Amino acid sequence: MIYQRSSALFEEAYQYIPGGVNSPVRAFKSVGGVPIFMKSAKGAYLTDADERTYVDYINSWGPAILGHTHPEVLEAVKLQAEKGFSFGAPTELETEIAKFIIENVPNIDQIRMVSSGTEACMSAIRLARGYTGREKIIKFEGCYHGHSDSFLIKAGSGAATFGNPNSPGVTSGTAKDTLLAKYNDIEQVEDLFRHNQGEIAAIIVEPVAGNMGCVLPENSFIQNLRKVCDENGALLIFDEVMTGFRLAFGGAQELYNVKADIVCYGKVIGGGMPVGAFAARNEIMNCLAPKGAVYQAGTLSGNPLAMRAGLTTLQLIKNNPNFYEKLNKTTETLDFEIGKILNEKGIAHKINRKGSMMSVFFHTNRVSNFEEAADSNHALFNNFFHQLLAQGIYLPPSGYETWFISDAINETEIDKTLEAVRNFDYSDKV
Ligand code: PLP
Repeated sequence: MIYQRSSALFEEAYQYIPGGVNSPVRAFKSVGGVPIFMKSAKGAYLTDADERTYVDYINSWGPAILGHTHPEVLEAVKLQAEKGFSFGAPTELETEIAKFIIENVPNIDQIRMVSSGTEACMSAIRLARGYTGREKIIKFEGCYHGHSDSFLIKAGSGAATFGNPNSPGVTSGTAKDTLLAKYNDIEQVEDLFRHNQGEIAAIIVEPVAGNMGCVLPENSFIQNLRKVCDENGALLIFDEVMTGFRLAFGGAQELYNVKADIVCYGKVIGGGMPVGAFAARNEIMNCLAPKGAVYQAGTLSGNPLAMRAGLTTLQLIKNNPNFYEKLNKTTETLDFEIGKILNEKGIAHKINRKGSMMSVFFHTNRVSNFEEAADSNHALFNNFFHQLLAQGIYLPPSGYETWFISDAINETEIDKTLEAVRNFDYSDKV
C-alpha cells in the first residue's frame, strides 16, 4: 500500500472533520481513493506523509505561481511576523499593496482586501446591487464564484427561467435572483435581459473558466458580455480569482482588452496566504462602507502577513520581464507533448489551455461549456489521475478542474511528467 500514512491520517481526520477535509475537493471523491496528506512543499514539489514527492500541478489551486515557499516570500513573511500577526487597525503596508496593484492593473481606482475569493465575489455582487439598485444577477453554468448562497444555484427548467438551489440550505428566495446561462452562449444572455428588463444588476463571469476544467471564451464572448451590459445598464463583474496576475499581470482585462466594472481577485494576490480582493473605479467603490452605504467588513482583512506575502509575490512577478513568457512556454510544451503521446496511444482527448492554465479532457470534440465538459470520459480521467499520482505527478483530483503551472516547473519536471504520461496504460485500472 503506497499511501499508508495518508490512509491512516484520513481515517483519523474523518472522525473529527466532516468528510475528513476542510474543503470538499480535497477528499478525492470524484476520482476515488484516499486523499494524500501533505507535509511540506518546496519549489515544484510536494512531499506527503509517506515521504513521497510529487511534481505539483495544483499549486494550492493556483496561488503558488512562483512554486512553493519561494525564498524571498518566505523571508519577507518571517520579517513581517516578527512585527506582529494582526493589528485590526490600518497599516501602511495595505496602502502599499493597493497602490502597487492599482498602478499595474488597468481600469481600477480602488481596491478592498478580504480573506478569500468567496468573500470577494460575494461582496462584489452586493456592491453591484447597491450601486445599480437592482437585485438579479446572471452567472454561467460551470463557473464557480465561491460558496456564497447566490452562487450555489443550478439551472431551472427552461432557458429563460430563474435558477434552483444547488445545495440544501440555500433558499428559493435567494435562488430566484440568480439567473443561469450557458458559458459562451451570448444569445441566452440577451434572452435573460429581454425577460428581466431593468432588473439585472450584473453579470459575473470567469473570463477564462477554470472550474469546469479550463474552458476558453469563444467568438468574442466576453466582448459581447461587455456590450450587453452597456446596453442594459448592468455591471460586468470579472471573477479573476484564478486568472488575475496569472494570465497577465492585469489578468483577463489586460489579455482580452475588455474593461470590467468590478474585478474580483484571490489566489495569486495572497502569495499562498488567505487573501481575496475586489476592485473597481471610484464611482463604484465610493458606494462601499465606511464612505458609502454598502456594508462590507472583515476582522482579518488586510492582515499584515498576508499582505506581505501577496505584495512580495506580485513584485517578484512584475520585476521579471520574462515571467509570463516562460510560464506560458512551459504550459505550451506540456500541452503539445502530452497531446502527442495521447495521440500515439490513440486516446481521444482535447486539451484546453490559456496561459498557464490547462486541462486534459478525454473527449472527442471541443469543450466550450459545462455540458461538453460533463460529456468527457471522466472514468478515463480518474484512471489517468491515479496512474500519474502513483508515478509522482500530482494533478487536480477531478476532470472538472484546471492544472495550474508554476514558475518552478522546469525541464526536469516536464520530462518526469511526460514519462508518466508515456507509461499511462488505459486498459490498466489502478
Ligand atoms: N472564484 C473562482 C473563479 C474560484 O476558482 C474560486 C475558488 O476556487 C473562488 C472564486 C472562491 O475562492 P475561495 O476558495 O478563496 O473562497
